[in-house]
Order: sequence, then C-alpha cells, then structure tokens
Amino acid sequence: MCIFCEIAQRKQPADIVYENATVIAFRDIHPKAPVHILIVSKKHIASVKEIEMEDCGLLVDILCAAKKIAEDQKVDEGYKLIFNVGRKGGQVIDHLHLHLLGGF
Ligand code: AMP
Ligand code: ZN
Repeated sequence: MCIFCEIAQRKQPADIVYENATVIAFRDIHPKAPVHILIVSKKHIASVKEIEMEDCGLLVDILCAAKKIAEDQKVDEGYKLIFNVGRKGGQVIDHLHLHLLGGF
C-alpha cells in the first residue's frame, strides 16, 4: 500500500485539514510555501495520466476541495494549484494528488 493510501486509511499520521467521501487533504511534510496542502483522492490512482474516464469526476472533486480549503486557510486571495505528472513532471509519490500552495 502506498503512503498516501495509508494516510487516507489513518494508518500513517498526517496533519489532515479536510476530508469528504472521495478526497482527503493534509499538510505537506516538506512545505514549499507558508501554506502547502496536498489534496489526495481516497481511491488509489497513480497520476492524472492513469485516470480512466469513469474516475474523471475525481478531478472535479479535488479541485472543488482545493477551492474550499483555500478559503478555510485564508489564502484565497491567490494561490497555486499544481499536479505533477510522472517522473519527468516531478512526481515522486505515485498516488493522485494536487498541491495547493499559498500564503506567499
Ligand atoms: P510529488 O512530487 O508531486 O509526488 O509530491 C509529493 C509530496 O508529498 C512532496 O511535496 C512531499 O514533501 C510530500 N510528502 C511525502 N511524504 C509525505 C507525508 N508522509 N506526509 C505529508 N506529505 C508528504
Ligand atoms: Zn495510494
């Protein structure tokens, strides 16, 4: 099981800031911004590249969660949303996640 699946199933600790039926969000352990949160699908999918059509709704779920979390964290004046895709795209953890970076 991958590290983000373990966090989603509460088998590994994380600073969780948001959760709903399909996604979970927690603070990045090595933050690259004052607010750096990872929004993760509960379902294990390796990356955007591996998503099947039937799971595309998860991308909307992740983006809508990001919007809400940005408001909750009071960074909605401006922030970055980044999907790293594949090793050449800078992806290290092969479980679908969106970076929310804010508070600059
Ligand atoms: P990526 O390069 O897009 O795969 O990003 C993976 C991110 O996960 C990195 O920014 C790491 O700092 C972060 N990360 C790795 N392990 C953990 C963990 N156990 N809890 C929180 N964030 C993590
Ligand atoms: Zn996983």
